[in-house]
Amino acid sequence: MASRTDLVEDLMGRFPHVPREAVLKEDLLRGGLAFDDAALTDNEHGDVKPKSYFIFSFDHRTLPELGSAALRRPPEEIVLTGGPYELRRTVVSVRINPSSPYRVGTDSDGRLRLFLDGRPIADVGLPPMPAYYRHTLANGKSVMEVAPTIQWGYLIYLTAFRVCQYFGAKEECQYCDINHNWRQHKQAGRPYTGVKPVDEVLEALEIIDRYDTNRASQAYTLTGGSITSQVGGLAEADFYGQYAQAIEERFPGRWIGKVVAQALPRADVQRFYDYGIRIYHPNYEVWDKRLFELYCPGKERYVGREEWHRRILDSAEVFGPRNVIPNFVAGVEMAATHGFATVNEAIDSTAEGLDYFVSRGITPRFTTWCPEPTTPLGRTNPQGAPLEYHVRLLEVYRATMDAHGLSSPPGYGPAGPGRAVFSVSSFMDTLPSADS
Ligand code: SF4
Repeated sequence: MASRTDLVEDLMGRFPHVPREAVLKEDLLRGGLAFDDAALTDNEHGDVKPKSYFIFSFDHRTLPELGSAALRRPPEEIVLTGGPYELRRTVVSVRINPSSPYRVGTDSDGRLRLFLDGRPIADVGLPPMPAYYRHTLANGKSVMEVAPTIQWGYLIYLTAFRVCQYFGAKEECQYCDINHNWRQHKQAGRPYTGVKPVDEVLEALEIIDRYDTNRASQAYTLTGGSITSQVGGLAEADFYGQYAQAIEERFPGRWIGKVVAQALPRADVQRFYDYGIRIYHPNYEVWDKRLFELYCPGKERYVGREEWHRRILDSAEVFGPRNVIPNFVAGVEMAATHGFATVNEAIDSTAEGLDYFVSRGITPRFTTWCPEPTTPLGRTNPQGAPLEYHVRLLEVYRATMDAHGLSSPPGYGPAGPGRAVFSVSSFMDTLPSADS
């Protein structure tokens, strides 16, 4: 049987215009990686920035099954350079899988390396503990809990509501473990605030603003579970909007404000804009009609796919098409038992969705599906989607953007191999940098 190295090198050879960095990054994101104990962090008390579990678990095992990595967190991200593939600087979000052929550990010289099938393939850099993580709020909560940063410090990730009102098998999206992630952290006795008070968010942002002296943080994302009724007496637009309003009043223009929320009616979308949000992510999740209905039963029932898409187009009139950036979960198209059986079919379907939006000036983006084990799709597809799907998606994504004259979307930091910081897919590593 061919090794994982063979698979990776075969795809690098067949798709030479897709950066090698992106091929490896997609493989790490879809299948996870293991960590030697020596490469784990000392949680919030060491020199390495720990994984914050900012919304989903993004792990291939449940917390109790992670061994040492459950007690000493892995780093939030790693940065890969050098090695036999001469990698340019590549930032990768950490998704733990103890049985992955990728392993981070030290070599005989004591250097931290990424090993694939036992062979060192990259130098590994770890994110330094940011100064703002060393401070706590007045009530003792950590900045990491209230306002973690990802993407090498570029993005402050504000999961204001840590559960989703689409609840249970008949409503939850079939690839999403937000509700399970909340349960498992509570069961482990970790701090995990269900609804983040606005005051705590402002206090954490004050600490970030004070200690982030080189201004690495450039944007914040407000997000959390969908709200189908109310939270704290507020419906979705006003619930998430209240945070933006408070942030923009206290720190006008300090960060780009983004929200990941449902595709809401136009009046609600206008409220997001009026609260000070400038980028809107009404995620369409998966393009194919049948798969959307099967994978997103709550969204299908409450809103419906066609209405969801109509609202995405409407929101472009409020935010401007460049600032509407709906996400899809790359890979679920190929999940058994209902997904496409071949890479060709999956790519054709995904490309149709990309063209639908990009031809209207809207830039979708994607995160690489992590088949978390407590989700229905993760349980039946622990290997995720084939790597070839992910590589060909990068190819078709860039071709679609090129065909319609669009460049990388705003609010994602720099584009291009060696420069991108977006860590949960490699679409930014694949697009050309501004000066290329
Ligand atoms: S709407 Fe779906 S993807 Fe979003 S948090 Fe709820 S269950 Fe998860």
